[in-house]
Amino acid sequence: GVPGVGKSTFIEALGRHITQDLGGKVAVLAVDPTSPLTGGSILGDKTRMTRLSTDPNAFIRPSPSSGSLGGVTQRTREAILLCEAAGFDNVLVETVGVGQSEVAVASMTDFFLLLLLANAGDELQGIKRGVIELADLLVINKADGANKAAAALARKQYENAIQFLPAAPSNWRAQVLTCSALKGEYIEAIWRRVGDYRAVTQQSGYFDLHRREQLAAWMDDAIEQALHARFYAKASTRAAADKLREAVKAGTKSPFEAARELLEKA
Ligand code: GDP
Repeated sequence: GVPGVGKSTFIEALGRHITQDLGGKVAVLAVDPTSPLTGGSILGDKTRMTRLSTDPNAFIRPSPSSGSLGGVTQRTREAILLCEAAGFDNVLVETVGVGQSEVAVASMTDFFLLLLLANAGDELQGIKRGVIELADLLVINKADGANKAAAALARKQYENAIQFLPAAPSNWRAQVLTCSALKGEYIEAIWRRVGDYRAVTQQSGYFDLHRREQLAAWMDDAIEQALHARFYAKASTRAAADKLREAVKAGTKSPFEAARELLEKA
């Protein structure tokens, strides 16, 4: 979800439900793409999830805010494995709605929950159709106080919108719920829905299939990362790339010509 939708508040409420009511353990990771404009992290360094962070059954990893999305994704996948090995049976991965990061997160998790606001309009929230298609569950947050009626209306609208989407490979039909993360309302119902998803997809075999496909995609990503790093390892290659980039900007070489030249030289 976008900044301000209530991700920290929601994760804190859900995390505490898991640890306190259900006796489980929860790890919270974040994929935080750097802002294309400022280069700074989007999720920010504010102190987040203060109550969950002191819970002995919760582990919150500050977001790695530097590096390419590909690099961050790879480190987050490794962190998921480590958390699982350390007995954290529930791993929540948070990201902001700015495009590629949701796709990256969907490629490493079992379940994708999209947090939305009523009255904000899809464009304002930066929500693209593709992201809605990724979602296994849409949740309209801040359904409390004066905002309750608007949340119920938004729920209807999203329900209408998603019924025209093609069926997901899991055969699971996405649903729309409302909640108040602040008041801790409907958090249980949301988590039950996640449990339903697991039961249904384990039964159909999709759950394991999806995980195996993710592992294969992980291998491809790791190769791409390694090739990229190897290619730019030599200082002379980096210098040549800088020079060619200038030539491309100056219009003396086409981007494709420059790329070919560098690939042949290195
Ligand atoms: P994030 O940027 O997505 O992590 O959003 P935060 O969790 O920091 O929440 C942004 C603001 O919305 C904060 O002032 C929260 O107190 C408020 N907020 C979050 N969830 C709710 C909710 O369910 N109801 C209301 N009324 N406010 C909320």
